[in-house]
Amino acid sequence: MDKNYKFWFCAGSQDLYGDAVLEHVAAHTKEMAEKLNASGNLPFEVVWKPTLLTNEHIRKTFNEANTDETCAGVIVWCHTFSPAKSWIIGLRELNKPLLHFHTQYNEEIPYDEIDMDFMNENQAAHGDREWGHIVTRMGIERKVIAGYWADPEVQKRIGSWQRTAVGIVESSHIRVMRVADNMRNVAVTEGDKVEAQIKFGWEVDTYPVNEIAEAVSAVSQADINALVDEYYSKYEILLEGRDEKEFREHVAVQAGIEIGFERFLKEKNYHAIVTHFGDLGSLKQLPGLAIQRLMEKGYGFGAEGDWKVAAMVRLMKIMSTGIKDAKGTSMLEDYTYNLKAGDRGILQSHMLEVCPSIADGPISIKCQPLSMGDREDPARLVFTSKVGTGIATSLVDLGHRFRLIINVVDCKKTAKPMPKLPTATNYWEPRPNLYTGAEAWIYAGGAHHTAFTYDLSVEQMTDWADAMGIEAVVIDENTDIRSFRNELRWNEASFR
Ligand code: MN
Repeated sequence: MDKNYKFWFCAGSQDLYGDAVLEHVAAHTKEMAEKLNASGNLPFEVVWKPTLLTNEHIRKTFNEANTDETCAGVIVWCHTFSPAKSWIIGLRELNKPLLHFHTQYNEEIPYDEIDMDFMNENQAAHGDREWGHIVTRMGIERKVIAGYWADPEVQKRIGSWQRTAVGIVESSHIRVMRVADNMRNVAVTEGDKVEAQIKFGWEVDTYPVNEIAEAVSAVSQADINALVDEYYSKYEILLEGRDEKEFREHVAVQAGIEIGFERFLKEKNYHAIVTHFGDLGSLKQLPGLAIQRLMEKGYGFGAEGDWKVAAMVRLMKIMSTGIKDAKGTSMLEDYTYNLKAGDRGILQSHMLEVCPSIADGPISIKCQPLSMGDREDPARLVFTSKVGTGIATSLVDLGHRFRLIINVVDCKKTAKPMPKLPTATNYWEPRPNLYTGAEAWIYAGGAHHTAFTYDLSVEQMTDWADAMGIEAVVIDENTDIRSFRNELRWNEASFR
């Protein structure tokens, strides 16, 4: 993401009220925009726009929003009554994310002074109902947030929606490079790439693995040495009995892959990548440490050709960009269970490729054989992950449509360290509990690969899915299996 996105703040009114009222409307809305920007609760700036009064003006403003590449969304509220038929043409043409901010300039009724003039000037309670009606009638996807504009909690909800809006706008810029096909015979990593481009805007292209391998072999020894030095200064080295020189050579292979892959991705303007351990061409190792570092830099990744996960990881990294004290976003895979009562959970890992952004504490480099494939022992970063709540998401292709499954999970530490496990891990219990969470996930058709983050909410991801026009189902503390299965049945009818 290289744009400094902005959001247009537009109040609706009409010209029946006279100049004095319209001057107040403009002054109030300007003050609100300024204070929202000064609050520190919005990750992106709001830009005040002149009050929208007429059909022509609304249409013109919305078309300007459409063509302004830095505009990631339009925020509308009606300070007064604004007859909604004057919005129809503009709304029909608007193609930016839309927030209906249902608010009011004053917090409290001014009991001693209130008269009919005040009532006419401050009537969002009914003006916004008129406006909401037409948006609903037109079937336009939008977010509605109600609340007092100066309340920090309300401001934070606007800020949270801004991240979703940026995800909606940026989704159509996501380009995934496949350097291998999906793993043979695997179902859940497959999907309709044409439909994904229609629905999400994702461009998913394949390159022969040896084309990117050539970019790796073109990396100079000096560049590789410099990056290996950086690794050695940044991470702990766990030789575990291996020869120091041989170990360093293995690490250097990953440094070459990191540099070569990144150059290739940048040159061709891709933001996400998939690999496959069974299709490595002339690469000496499965990209491990290299992919982990690229994910940390913001690239999406999916293993075994899983381009849907690669795009989702990229999307979620975009949506969480710049969050203060972010805890991280990664591809993960459900590996093995702890079924012991009192500490149930799913051990999350992958062969190698877990993003160090989710790491807690020191990160080490290990070299170990892969138990699959035919290449030399790859170097990888090993760590455990942060404690806290996150969401695991799985986008599946059901044949005639996509479904996004979102599970709230509580990440914790395993009861004991696992010294013989040469991979990075996370460990979580899905809500509402392991048994019900796993049952719901399986009924929904969720995959074993997930795009996981600590930094986004269920609301943000369901709003994104709504904007994409796809089904989203949530597994959380409120999930019970009978209702969940009924929801899946009803959705089957609704999303046909
Ligand atoms: Mn896998």
